[in-house]
Amino acid sequence: MTGNKPTYGELFKHNVQLREQNNKLKEEINILRKSFLPEENYYKDRYYRITENVNDVVYRLILPDCRYEYISPQSKELFGYEPEDFYNSPLLVRKLIHPSFLKDFIKHWRMLLEGEAPEYYEIKIQKKNGEIRWVQQKNLIIRNNRRKAVAIEGIVTDITDRKITEEALISSEAQKKAILNNLPHLAWLKDCDGKYLSVNESFAHSVKRSVDEIIGKTDYDLYPQEYAQCYREQDLKIIITQKQAFYEEKTKDCWFETFKAPIFDAQGNVMGITGISLEISKRKMNEEEIKSYSEKLAIQNVKLKLINDELKTAKEKAEESDKLKSAFLANMSHEIRTPMNAILGFATLIRNRALSNEKRKQYIDLINSNCRQLLHIITDIIDISKIEAGQINIFNKNFQLNKALHELYLNYKNQIEVLNKPIELIFSPGLKNEESAIFTDKIRLEQILANLVSNAFKFTEKGSIELGYYIDRRRAIVFFVKDTGIGINEEEQMIIFDRFRQVSSAYNKLYGGTGLGLSISKGLAEKLGGKIWVKSEYGKGSEFFFSIPYKPGVNFERPAQIDYQVEYNWSGRTILIAEDEEVNYNLLDTILSPTGTEILRAKTGLEVIRLCETREQIDLVLMDIKMPDLNGLEATKRIKALRNNLPVIAQTAYAMSTDEQNCLHSGCDDYISKPLRIDELLRKIDRYFKKDSDTEVAVKKKNIGTHIIEN
Ligand code: ADP
Repeated sequence: MTGNKPTYGELFKHNVQLREQNNKLKEEINILRKSFLPEENYYKDRYYRITENVNDVVYRLILPDCRYEYISPQSKELFGYEPEDFYNSPLLVRKLIHPSFLKDFIKHWRMLLEGEAPEYYEIKIQKKNGEIRWVQQKNLIIRNNRRKAVAIEGIVTDITDRKITEEALISSEAQKKAILNNLPHLAWLKDCDGKYLSVNESFAHSVKRSVDEIIGKTDYDLYPQEYAQCYREQDLKIIITQKQAFYEEKTKDCWFETFKAPIFDAQGNVMGITGISLEISKRKMNEEEIKSYSEKLAIQNVKLKLINDELKTAKEKAEESDKLKSAFLANMSHEIRTPMNAILGFATLIRNRALSNEKRKQYIDLINSNCRQLLHIITDIIDISKIEAGQINIFNKNFQLNKALHELYLNYKNQIEVLNKPIELIFSPGLKNEESAIFTDKIRLEQILANLVSNAFKFTEKGSIELGYYIDRRRAIVFFVKDTGIGINEEEQMIIFDRFRQVSSAYNKLYGGTGLGLSISKGLAEKLGGKIWVKSEYGKGSEFFFSIPYKPGVNFERPAQIDYQVEYNWSGRTILIAEDEEVNYNLLDTILSPTGTEILRAKTGLEVIRLCETREQIDLVLMDIKMPDLNGLEATKRIKALRNNLPVIAQTAYAMSTDEQNCLHSGCDDYISKPLRIDELLRKIDRYFKKDSDTEVAVKKKNIGTHIIEN
């Protein structure tokens, strides 16, 4: 080429040269490019060489069309699909992913593209043959120089075996956890410093913290100092001794049963303590309850034993008393038949007209004394029945004690004289006559004393009998009856106050008796607020005592005229005798006729009222209580309604202490019990006649004599 404008030929030649050069360069570039950018199978071959010896699947996916540029042949083994299957159908991966993971997989894919996915991703797949496997993916995003994602290179590893092991591990851990957490026990693990390494839910619950909060803490962080100290000491002991231990301990309001044991490392050194603890408050409570129940039962048993013993004794007593009763009935039969026999016998003999006056008087006396004996037995039977039924009533009144005792004394003195016994009877009052008024039930007091004196009299042949009383330091009147009789041995002294009991010696049999007197006396003494006891020496004599509270009475009685018997003149007076029984009427008629009084008789209650209405001259009524059509008490009420001032003296054979009350309550002015004491009857009638006139009384000194007439 010259400096001149090139010619066409020159230009064409140059053009051809340049074209050749250009093509050459292109070829070189192509060659170069080929060496730089390998052809399609270049990677396939390359990767194949790298991956053919590993078990994992390696792949390269071209974006954005998701075409597999390469997938290693292990896909056949791992997925069951040939690499060709993936090349031909890029969406095969959807089939491969286990349906339960599909959603998660898509999410992961999205995150991957955004560069936010984790490095490893584990997923469940379903092989072509349906087999389920676990795989792990590691993906790498390939970007161009403008940071655009152009490919994903990844590797898939089969992790099924690891997963199975892991799952087994997790499930066994979960099982252990489940067991521990569902235990009612508190369970824990501590290191040697006392720091909690693990605890179960129950433990956490018990200290009101979460499990995580507890880990790393010590007992001092969880419990009051005092308890923590105690737990630490226990732990130290376990660490030192390397032995298990068992504790039963109480916290503020719970009881726990705790088992602690050391745990060892591979070298056999203690590396911590494990413990398990169960709340046993309920059990403790039950134990306590059982204990207290047992104690109660034991007490109850003792009580029952006592009751049993008492019942046994009562049974023995009942059996004994049954025996005694039989013996008593036999004895009673004898005791009643003996006087009855005498009464009937002498009553028959007395009919003999040829009998001398003296003999007749003797027989009458015998009948009299046997009647008294019989009456005594009947009274005793009534009294013991009333005592046993708790029906003894006490009627306290003022009376002069010395006078009452003196009457008793005289009565027995008389008997001693009659029987001509070499016995001295002594009366030892503890108070002066004028100071001796007391307030108690006179009849019952006299009854006790009469029982004691009768016994003394019965069991003493010679020597002395002393009757008296004194006031003791406790302001009780202590009555005593001492005798020098046969005495009672110590053993028998214990039983003589029991009913039907008599001293069992043959000697005693000589004296007869029902065995009731002392038990009646005991019952009465107790009813009067006192007690009775005996001191005696066998063969030497006995001292019976009984005490009652000393209640001084008002001394209103005039000096007694106890040594006098009175003859009465009641001529001009009229007495109405209300009596249905013939024999009783005859007796009264005989007693009253010598006084010169006019006697009228009514046989029924209504007749009494009629006579009182019609016969104004009637001055006094002797009223029998038990009468036909209208009883004496009712009749008295009506008479009093008619003639309030007409004195009515009731007479009854019931002889109960309540009778007196009933009579007075019905309006009777006075009361006299059958069998009648003649002198008492006359004295009472006279008292009413004297009230309105000066009845002439002839007084004549006489020996005292008590006549008892039985109806
Ligand atoms: P009894 O009607 O048999 O006398 P008691 O109850 O009065 O019944 O007396 C019971 C028994 O006590 C008597 O049978 C007698 O054995 C004994 N006894 C009572 N008083 C005396 C006494 N003063 N001296 C000796 N023994 C007595």
